[in-house]
Amino acid sequence: MVELDSLGKADTVRNYVGGDWVTPESDDELVTTNPTTGEELGRVPFSSTNDVDDAVRTANEAFEDWSGRPVEERIQPLFELKSLLEENLDELAEILVQDHGKTRAEARGELRRGIENVEVACGIPSMMQSGTLLNAAPEIDESAVRKPLGTFAAITPFNFPGMIPLWFLPYAVATGNSFILKPSEQDPLVTQKLFELIDEAGFPDGVVQLVNGGKDTVNDLIDHDGIEGISFVGSTPIAKLVYERAAANGKRVQAQGGAKNHIVVTETADLEFAAEKTVSSACACAGERCLANDVVLVEESVYDEFADLVVAEAEAQTVGYGLDDGTDIGSLISEEHETTVRNYIQTGIEEGATMLRDGRDVDVDGYEEGNFVGPTVFGDVTEDMVISQEEIFGPVLALDAVESVDAAIERMNASQFGNAASLFTGSGADAQKFRHQAEIGNIGVNVGTSAPMAFFHFGGWKDSFFGDLHAQGEDMIQFYTDKAIYIERWPDA
Ligand code: NAD
Repeated sequence: MVELDSLGKADTVRNYVGGDWVTPESDDELVTTNPTTGEELGRVPFSSTNDVDDAVRTANEAFEDWSGRPVEERIQPLFELKSLLEENLDELAEILVQDHGKTRAEARGELRRGIENVEVACGIPSMMQSGTLLNAAPEIDESAVRKPLGTFAAITPFNFPGMIPLWFLPYAVATGNSFILKPSEQDPLVTQKLFELIDEAGFPDGVVQLVNGGKDTVNDLIDHDGIEGISFVGSTPIAKLVYERAAANGKRVQAQGGAKNHIVVTETADLEFAAEKTVSSACACAGERCLANDVVLVEESVYDEFADLVVAEAEAQTVGYGLDDGTDIGSLISEEHETTVRNYIQTGIEEGATMLRDGRDVDVDGYEEGNFVGPTVFGDVTEDMVISQEEIFGPVLALDAVESVDAAIERMNASQFGNAASLFTGSGADAQKFRHQAEIGNIGVNVGTSAPMAFFHFGGWKDSFFGDLHAQGEDMIQFYTDKAIYIERWPDA
């Protein structure tokens, strides 16, 4: 058992405001546990309206100076943060495994994706530029500039606590804004460590703040006059609430929601490769990924063969503690969520889907408290079934046969969600058709999980996204700045 030595300070999770660690004043709190061992990890006190107000006021004061600093100066703490993240990667990954339940390799991969965003934001001096036109009119030069706006907040989910805050934070501060993070209350410890590194990185006090809490803390941020804009990532019902409330308050808002993603397999695909990628797409991070492709539509002629390959691949997965070597699938975030996933499996059985592999009966020696569900594979899952329509967020695959790629695309596009989809094929024509017709934000061809690199925006359509500018890359520059025009005349020039 690995000691939680680095978490000594996290017995009680704290806020980071004005460069100091402070304990929120509210009596509400949540106790977080290691989802594999059941061990208590930390108490998360929820921030009150006053705590939020302190953080926003401090951030706004810091903005006055920060927004006027040269851009080269603003990115120096990000270079330092990148180095600190690299140096502390192993420790961060270990905390993440213990707090969330994923495997060490998944934790490292997640952190790598977060670091990528810090690297991209270091390019703000180029990315933030706008155009200038000499002689736009007689004697007149005209230019467009981007300006920071004030203090922004981000509210993030439990499933990628080491990465998703970094979809926002580096861009917000590099463009000259102040930033407040409200992470998930379910696994806040990696964020505590991240903020220890932020504390070392050399940001002026008040530029980057952390407030812990739940629903009320989120609403206090959304309602606060001192906040310019809100980024949200989480489930669709909450994304919609946050989007509407922030917009009603006149704020900029981007709200990423839940998903139900599809894989389409044609008869020309490399079936073994496709089966391996399908199982890893649906089951990595125990299925707790918004990009998990878990509805699998297979051309009839290869359906039986492909289903056998998927079952064999599912059988080969080792369920266990993410810190133990050889573990492929870790535990779900909580006992409550494990029950939700098991209820969905029961629903699938009652709806008449064919159970091809039942992952419910999973024992992991030494971790009897673990929130485990093994890879579960259903066949003959028709479009009307709940397990074909709703996000399960567990390692549950739903297979069905389709007569053609056209039929698969039609069924996929009928979903309320549009986060991600992948096609496995050997046909360029099918790939092109898929790219053109999929009503989806992140589209993969012969790729199991279409996760965009940090220099591209993170897509998401329909009920998977509310807003217009997405997370990561160029979109974040637009979200965190507004454009102004300078029109200059010098008649004697
Ligand atoms: P969640 O919606 O329960 O919580 C997300 C955040 O919202 C948390 O910080 C939480 O404290 C806060 N929150 C919860 N209830 C609230 C309420 N009533 N009012 C205001 N704030 C509230 O989501 P989760 O369970 O933490 O995360 C899983 C969900 O996130 C899944 O649906 C997953 O698909 C989605 N997700 C989407 C993306 C994406 O890019 N589209 C990425 C990761 C996760």
